[in-house]
Amino acid sequence: MTDRYASFVQSAAGRALVKRLGLPDPPRLRRHHPGDPLLPGPALLGAATGGRLAEPISKILTSAGVELADPVADTAPDDNPRRYGALLFDATGITDSTDLRQLYDFFHPQARALLPSGRVIVLGTPPQECGSPREATAQRALEGLVRSIGKEFGRGTTAQLVHVTRAESGILTSLESTLRFLLSGRSAYVSGQVIRVGAGTASAPADWNRPLDGQVVLVTGAARGIGAALAKVLARDGAQVVALDVPAAGDALAAVANDIGGTAVQLDLTAPDAPTRLADHLASRHGRVDVVVHNAGITRDKTLGRMDADRWDQVIDVNLSSQERINDVLLERALIPTGGRIVSVSSIAGIAGNRGQTNYATSKAGVIGLVDSLAPALRERGISVNAVAPGFIETRLTARIPLVVREAGRRMNSLAQGGLPVDVAETIGWLAWPASGAVSGNVVRVCGQSLLGA
Ligand code: NAD
Repeated sequence: MTDRYASFVQSAAGRALVKRLGLPDPPRLRRHHPGDPLLPGPALLGAATGGRLAEPISKILTSAGVELADPVADTAPDDNPRRYGALLFDATGITDSTDLRQLYDFFHPQARALLPSGRVIVLGTPPQECGSPREATAQRALEGLVRSIGKEFGRGTTAQLVHVTRAESGILTSLESTLRFLLSGRSAYVSGQVIRVGAGTASAPADWNRPLDGQVVLVTGAARGIGAALAKVLARDGAQVVALDVPAAGDALAAVANDIGGTAVQLDLTAPDAPTRLADHLASRHGRVDVVVHNAGITRDKTLGRMDADRWDQVIDVNLSSQERINDVLLERALIPTGGRIVSVSSIAGIAGNRGQTNYATSKAGVIGLVDSLAPALRERGISVNAVAPGFIETRLTARIPLVVREAGRRMNSLAQGGLPVDVAETIGWLAWPASGAVSGNVVRVCGQSLLGA
């Protein structure tokens, strides 16, 4: 579960060897600690002529305590150039391919100006909302720039494109929640993503250090791995966590729940009466569940020709069908209130497919289908539905992969390392915040910009 190579390259001997042999050079990533400033240095904000977001963004950044650099004063001497924590560019004013030059003019002089684990964020208009084919074409072009910067800038830099709807409701709060997530160390292992902020129900927290204050959150598969990290992160952010896992994992589950002052529910999600028992428990203890995180998942790998039907059935049932059954009962009994959140855990295997994992990849692609189909249907009820798709995460699951395949999986991404369970947990946390209600129908990869399925 530990990446010895990444630790080695941080040492003096390691650094020398990496340089001499041109070996992969995984940087140490900036991760979130409560009370941290959002960025390690000032942010430089640029905008295309006629952009509609520069003003709200600058207000959001200032209220979040981010120092905004002055672009004019910052045409600094070459011997002591200014270093930034983030480069943000409002590209909503770009309406024609000839306008794309403004991106080059902004980013070219700053290509080496970011501090380690810096952030690049480009904000655009969803192409389907654009007023003309030329505008839609130019807006679509932004993806190529952002994804390439993610691969090029290095030193732990991440790059994202945020599509912001023109509609009004909920967007400023959710734009703020999204910027706070993306700028901070919470998004350490998220890169090369296109995130949509649409219209929706969103409410800002009283304290951004406790963005889940008072929220009742169900986490399935919470006894270990990503689920245990999730329970901790969500409780740290103020949630009352209901941690669920199979009875066989009862001791580990109790330890997680005790550690965070949450409650434990021992339940096999595939049992026929699981949805009603879970709904009864949530109704009697809490009267509601604000956030449902479908994290429990299993693998039963075999190539399709060698796979018995049991392996197929178990994986589809745990990873997909049980989520649908639980959603149905919780929604039918109105236990998920307005402002509720559903977050499911998919996988890059569900995007790229994987040899030996037809069952798993089918189930995880199904999770994406669940998001696509439920999000529009639940928007009117003020409930958001999103998924995260982790790439290579350092857990027991990935520790079992044979060494050579494991090393390849770890390094084949822009950050040259595996992610940690906490990286997936922080991403789910952001999607669960009451402030993130206008972020719905997204599948956010937590994969360090993996080459798989890119
Ligand atoms: P894990 O095996 O460490 O934990 C999964 C948990 O789910 C276990 O505690 C298990 O007991 C529980 N669970 C399994 N079946 C259950 C059932 N029927 N009822 C209740 N609980 C059940 O796995 P992990 O690595 O922490 O993965 C968590 C999620 O992330 C899974 O959905 C997995 O597919 C997904 N994922 C993981 C990775 C990775 O690299 N680790 C990558 C992509 C996706």
